[in-house]
Amino acid sequence: MSVTAAAGDSALQVNGGAYEAVIGIECHVELKTETKMFCGCRNVFGSEPNTNVCPVCLGYPGALPVPNRLAIEAIVKAGLAFGAEIPPFSKFDRKNYFYPDMPKNYQISQYDTPFTRGGVVSFWLPDGTQRQIRLTRIHLEEDTGKSIHAGSTDGRLGGSTHSLVDFNRAGVPLMECVSEPDIRSAVEAVAYLEALKRTFVALGVSDVKMEEGSLRCDANVSIRPTGASELGTKTEIKNMNSFRSVQRAIGNEISRQAEALSRGERIVQETRGWDEVAETTIVQRSKEEAHDYRYFPDPDLVPIEFAARDIARLRDELVTLPQPRLERLILHDRVSVVQAHQLIDTPGLADYYEETVALSEAPQATLNFVLGELSRLANETATAVASSALTPKALAEIVDLTSRGAINSKTAKDIIARVWSEGGSPAEIVEREGLGQVSDPAAVDGFVREVIAAQAESVENFRNGKETVLKFLIGQVMKTSRGKADPKLAEERLRALIAGSDP
Ligand SMILES: [Zn+2]
Repeated sequence: MSVTAAAGDSALQVNGGAYEAVIGIECHVELKTETKMFCGCRNVFGSEPNTNVCPVCLGYPGALPVPNRLAIEAIVKAGLAFGAEIPPFSKFDRKNYFYPDMPKNYQISQYDTPFTRGGVVSFWLPDGTQRQIRLTRIHLEEDTGKSIHAGSTDGRLGGSTHSLVDFNRAGVPLMECVSEPDIRSAVEAVAYLEALKRTFVALGVSDVKMEEGSLRCDANVSIRPTGASELGTKTEIKNMNSFRSVQRAIGNEISRQAEALSRGERIVQETRGWDEVAETTIVQRSKEEAHDYRYFPDPDLVPIEFAARDIARLRDELVTLPQPRLERLILHDRVSVVQAHQLIDTPGLADYYEETVALSEAPQATLNFVLGELSRLANETATAVASSALTPKALAEIVDLTSRGAINSKTAKDIIARVWSEGGSPAEIVEREGLGQVSDPAAVDGFVREVIAAQAESVENFRNGKETVLKFLIGQVMKTSRGKADPKLAEERLRALIAGSDP
């Protein structure tokens, strides 16, 4: 009996046989709309309890829901961003169950006609592997209220003396994204969620603040012999409220199942909650089946049919999305996975980089400046690169001046620091102040001869085989030339003139 699994790795050994994890994720994302899904109440986090409520979201008899057009459009945009199909016909259904923080005793959701079907979420793992996870669907529903179990020390039901309910969240538009079971490890699960988050933030449909509960997710986890097509028995993990807990809960559940199988036990289909403190998943209840919810079309809401021109308009409104952008950076510009994410995840930096490359036509040199000197200055001065006085046009000039050898890297750094705060054209500064690199061998020879004459002892040491002295001598040439000599040429001429001169 043995189980081995490297942390975050998809390779899993159970009693010597190779196993793989099969993971599907359902995640709920609160939409960032002005008002709730079916009424005019404000959709804001952190208000006084029960102040953003009305007869509709409190489920008063006879109150009728009116769908929020912008929430529906947000779902369609999210689907389009991942290449999903937008079926022409959709409707809302009632999902019936009792919960103290759900006043109607049903939740308006979508059962068999979600707003979007299919689509692919594409992303890179930190090791550089590209992964593609298929989406099953994205549908729209309303959030429930929130129970607060008071009098307990940890906010949970056990040990509380009484429970309170806040309906501010009841009726907030909630997007549910369901993936196919294509995810193979805890690390992949987190990378998948980060890819979703990045896209939703770029689309402006949600601010995805996990600490405010605007992204919550459940994972279905099973394991099977590698290469098998049948699925093993799955468990559903609930209650994961940070990327860190997603990674640890899934990793923990994979190990638990592998250990159970290695002991010859069977996996029981059940819902398990993640206990952050005990660092383990614990049984909550056996899983309901869809038929337990008695879904039926909501008779208060008419079905929705999209016009082709509305879909076309929403497609046109898609901003530059992170997914195709990462692909362009990694596959076309050959930017590393880590650097590409640095560009995308720093607000405005990818725009700045792309605008500069459009002018400089030199991706690698531009990237080196953006992630090197410019990011350093941004940290030092607490100014975003895009808000500095150094425009993409100015940086493109620097890239051009250095790649032609017109200025050396030291001069480039000095000019960047000046233009960063003062603005202006690097090309004009070089011209006006005569900062151009000296690449004329005759002129460089002049500086070299001066240094050879002044540093007789070092020259002698070099001649006797002390190679490291050369660095010092090049430094002296740079100093004599006031930083303008071409360092490569300086080295060449130093070697030649020392070799050619008499000891
Ligand atoms: Zn309301």
